[in-house]
Amino acid sequence: MKSTIEEIRSILMEHHDVISKSIPLIASENVTSPAVDEACNSDFSHRYAEGWVGQRVYAGCKYIDQVEEICMELTKKYFRCCFADVRPISGVMANLVLYNAFTSRNHGRMMVMPIPKGGHISHAPYETSTGNKIYGTAGTVRGLDIKYFAFDEENMNLDVDKSAEIIREFKPEMLLFGGSVFLFPHPVKELSEVGREVGAKIGYDGAHVAGLIGSGYFQDPLREGADAMSFSCHKTLPGPQTGTVVSDREDLKEDLKNAAFPSLFSNHHLHNVAGFAVALVEMLEFGKEYHKKVIENAQAFAAALKERGFNVLCEHLGFTKSHQIVVDIANFEKNAGLGGDIERTLEEANIIINRNLLPWDIREGRSYMNPSGIRMGTSEVTRLGMGKSEMNDIAEFFKKLIVDKKPPKKVKEEVAEFKKEFQEIKFCFQSPNKAYEYLKFY
Ligand SMILES: *Cc1c(COP(=O)(O)O)cnc(C)c1O
Repeated sequence: MKSTIEEIRSILMEHHDVISKSIPLIASENVTSPAVDEACNSDFSHRYAEGWVGQRVYAGCKYIDQVEEICMELTKKYFRCCFADVRPISGVMANLVLYNAFTSRNHGRMMVMPIPKGGHISHAPYETSTGNKIYGTAGTVRGLDIKYFAFDEENMNLDVDKSAEIIREFKPEMLLFGGSVFLFPHPVKELSEVGREVGAKIGYDGAHVAGLIGSGYFQDPLREGADAMSFSCHKTLPGPQTGTVVSDREDLKEDLKNAAFPSLFSNHHLHNVAGFAVALVEMLEFGKEYHKKVIENAQAFAAALKERGFNVLCEHLGFTKSHQIVVDIANFEKNAGLGGDIERTLEEANIIINRNLLPWDIREGRSYMNPSGIRMGTSEVTRLGMGKSEMNDIAEFFKKLIVDKKPPKKVKEEVAEFKKEFQEIKFCFQSPNKAYEYLKFY
């Protein structure tokens, strides 16, 4: 048995070693500070609380209540609102809270962003099956009838006029804005006015952009008509993996609370609530500076790739207003393959990105396995201290691998050398720290 534990340990060590030599560009990822990690490794991870602060199901929650109260207060401050529920254990759970609060069970109607154009799997209307069993996604397990907003492919955003038509005809109980490919603010103001005409509640899935919103660099959905926002705490917000619901509607507080517990979960992850509270302190202090750089880096990276022959989407709109950029790599198909192939080539050199469906891929017969898009995000590289000149360096690595077809093994060595200087987490209080030594082995 001991050898299995040793094996697990050595796999973890190896993972950490590779990560320390890699360029992390997954748009949904970030890294936590040593202070966040300490909170997440606390004894809170062994405990049960259940329920709302002050109304717990279990004894022994005195300190847990204090921390969760602080976490809720910090969340309300960061998002400028009167209600925060930090209990949902992930972004999908937070979405389910909104579905639960704002729609009827079985054939409640919801409108979301189309999946192939950047919507999230937890918004999806489709089902899979084996034999006579049917499995839904987060929306369909609740039995919702889900329709898509109309999408403007040129501008990578919702088509306001066509979506308004669908809203008036379909009369949804809920609109859900936000998505996983999210370059530009959604027309929340315009379409929530239309939603109100048919009595819809307005949700906003800020999983990707929550940090940009909190720090004031993206649209502010609670001010533009959203009744509530759900989000993951670990994408542009550098917290542990958990989820949150916020609202500025005094009259919806009780609904939202009950839609979460005991409806959707029993205990929540108390250690991650503690870690999230620490991350919020960091972002209230350093978020303005950090998230400004995240967006500047995304724009600089896009421009640097464009200069090297990459077809970065939406040049006419300045490429992006978020932490993400999307590249159509179909022009390299003969040379380097499509999204799936390029994802593998980059990974061989320890550059970690993900392939992504582009809005026209399904129509043109390409699937999720090898679509024509790749998506990158700058949250993590920025947190490690990289700036515009490093965005040029990274774009140059892309060129070497995809345009010049240099052997990935060689580029991998250059990547490791480049990465040596970026081993500490910035925009946090503890200094010095080593970003990739957070998992301690005794
Ligand atoms: C990542 C993501 C989620 C899910 O987040 P988890 O925390 O992984 O459950 C939900 N919605 C969108 C739009 C996302 O991109």
